[in-house]
Amino acid sequence: MEQKAREILEKYREAGRISIEAKKLAERIVKPGKNAFEIAQELEQFIVDQGAKPAFPVNFSINNEAAHYSPEILDTRTVGDQDIIKIDLGAHIDGYIVDTAITINFNISLEPLRKIAEEALEAAIDTVKEGIKVLDVGAAIERTIVNGGFQPVRNLSGHQIKRYILHAGLTIPNHGSGKFALVKGRLEKGKVYAIEPFATNGVGEVISGKTTNIFRVKRKPKAKETDLGKILAKYFAKVGVLPFSPRFLYNGGGLEEKEKIMMDLRKLFRKGIIMGYPVLVEADKNAMVSQYEHTVIVKENGCEVLTRN
Ligand code: MN
Ligand code: MN
Repeated sequence: MEQKAREILEKYREAGRISIEAKKLAERIVKPGKNAFEIAQELEQFIVDQGAKPAFPVNFSINNEAAHYSPEILDTRTVGDQDIIKIDLGAHIDGYIVDTAITINFNISLEPLRKIAEEALEAAIDTVKEGIKVLDVGAAIERTIVNGGFQPVRNLSGHQIKRYILHAGLTIPNHGSGKFALVKGRLEKGKVYAIEPFATNGVGEVISGKTTNIFRVKRKPKAKETDLGKILAKYFAKVGVLPFSPRFLYNGGGLEEKEKIMMDLRKLFRKGIIMGYPVLVEADKNAMVSQYEHTVIVKENGCEVLTRN
């Protein structure tokens, strides 16, 4: 292998190692009664302390929420003693991103739901090799989850990862048949993909919820947008090009600082300089959701799972 390719692989592996440790930390600190804001801050700080950067804010989606809930600044939400929580986190070194998720469940009756997403991910990984159709990976996920008596979430999917781009190129569906099964493409050797089955006891579809707490810079302010340019310049070093949380901008100044940050972000949002990712909830409001995710590098006859021990 040439030197440059070897260095890139080492960065992916190191980001993967850090993400594994971060998941272990999550399993120790996500406990009933604990505050979601403090947990997210601790996990992101851990990633930094280990020598990587968060590739996106820690997602802390609870119960009916499937994805994109991330604690807001000074969020008072706490872990409930019957909650099923999806911790989805990312780490990158020099733009080489890994994306991985686990489900932490405190409701014994939802254990089969938690377990089926974990099994679906393993079944999907078993199919991965150079040239396999993404729909065949999705079919393995769907088969596992449906045989377990649940539904895959069909409008959420895995994705290719490129340097500094979390969702790039190919989509890896969580199903292999039915009305959404139109996704084309095959996995290619040497490329990096995140595979992320979601399982639910609901209808298998998510809709956008009311709140948004993850954002991303979408465009540069124009020369004449002087004020917006100044606002973005103040924050850009901390938010970069990857998804961010307002928490990334917070310096411990309490509710007053929070209000100031949120006012600035609203200005940028209204003019389309930043975009938001709304919380995604299962369409059946009483349904629960589980999720597991790994990042893999595809090989000729299999893959290297970067985010698994
Ligand atoms: Mn993820
Ligand atoms: Mn992902």
